[in-house]
Amino acid sequence: MYDGELVGELRGVNRREVIAAYRAYQIKVHGESVAANWPVNDPGIGIGSWKLVGEDAKRLNNKRKASDDDVPSQKSNKPRTGGPPGLRWDPTDYSCAYDSLLTILRAIWRVDSAKWGHRFGSVSRHVKTLANGFERALEGVRSLEDVRDEVRRAFWILDSVKFPKGHAYTSLGDVSDALFGDANWGVHVHKCFRCGIVDHEIAGFRALKYIAVDEARTTAGSLFSISEWFNRYNLRVSGNNCANCGHALMRIKKATKVPPLLVFVLSSPEVIINRELSVLVEDVAAKYYLSGVVYSGKKHFTSRVIKRNGDMWYNDGIETGRESVFEGVMQSEDIQFINYCLTDETTRGAAAIVYALAE
Ligand SMILES: [Zn+2]
Repeated sequence: MYDGELVGELRGVNRREVIAAYRAYQIKVHGESVAANWPVNDPGIGIGSWKLVGEDAKRLNNKRKASDDDVPSQKSNKPRTGGPPGLRWDPTDYSCAYDSLLTILRAIWRVDSAKWGHRFGSVSRHVKTLANGFERALEGVRSLEDVRDEVRRAFWILDSVKFPKGHAYTSLGDVSDALFGDANWGVHVHKCFRCGIVDHEIAGFRALKYIAVDEARTTAGSLFSISEWFNRYNLRVSGNNCANCGHALMRIKKATKVPPLLVFVLSSPEVIINRELSVLVEDVAAKYYLSGVVYSGKKHFTSRVIKRNGDMWYNDGIETGRESVFEGVMQSEDIQFINYCLTDETTRGAAAIVYALAE
């Protein structure tokens, strides 16, 4: 598929290769000064240096030579303000599974709070609670951490083992499931392509998907894109045979309503991440754009918000708290480097990908 061909030249199989490829690519496109911003082999270069934008960076740029590795270039990384607010990590009741996802959801909601407030209400009562909370937080009467804790308390009441308090780690998949898992946007049928028999339709199109590590690759070992995986997921061999003719039945999933969000939880960061997706709903394509990635590594989740215009903002509830750090403007080719959290000095890979309805 074209996705595979586009990325064939540069996509590495591990973080180091990806970063090396990114550096080479940036030098080719933007020159050495930009590539120098990205951590390559020095484990000491990470979020701390990346925060040097604005006046600090100017001062340092004046003092240091252009070849210094840890000084962001003013040319490519103009100081940006107005980044999406993040949530401060709770060191008493570990909260990063919530913080990372909510930072992305808050940014989506903020694009058009009236429209997204309505949409969030259609996803689940918990996502509706988030929209109401984001509104209160914008008015300044609550904090985003209060909003998080309200939803978190509801989850804890539902299942205190899956959604623990204290110094315990919460599964991103479980939080995603509690937020998005109940909504149904379409039907699920089995069809025999030989005799044309279709069984009765049952509700079965969820906007939350789990991509298992072995499902992200072809039998030949090359990676699928999210879009390819999704299409295959929605039309696959069911494992059952037709009661009429014995032929293998296909399982078909079709959306009949437009889900506002599509969320993919990954068991491995190795999948080709599309910047856009589309879902056919009653023969009309609903368009989605990549709006955030949650990264996982060293038992902590961080997030990257991607605006519709390509602006990328990094947030870590521990390191950056309520602030987000501007990472750059994503060019179409940069999608290849989104599988790993390059801002972070540790290895963090994509653990969940959030797409938002584009219109
Ligand atoms: Zn049949």
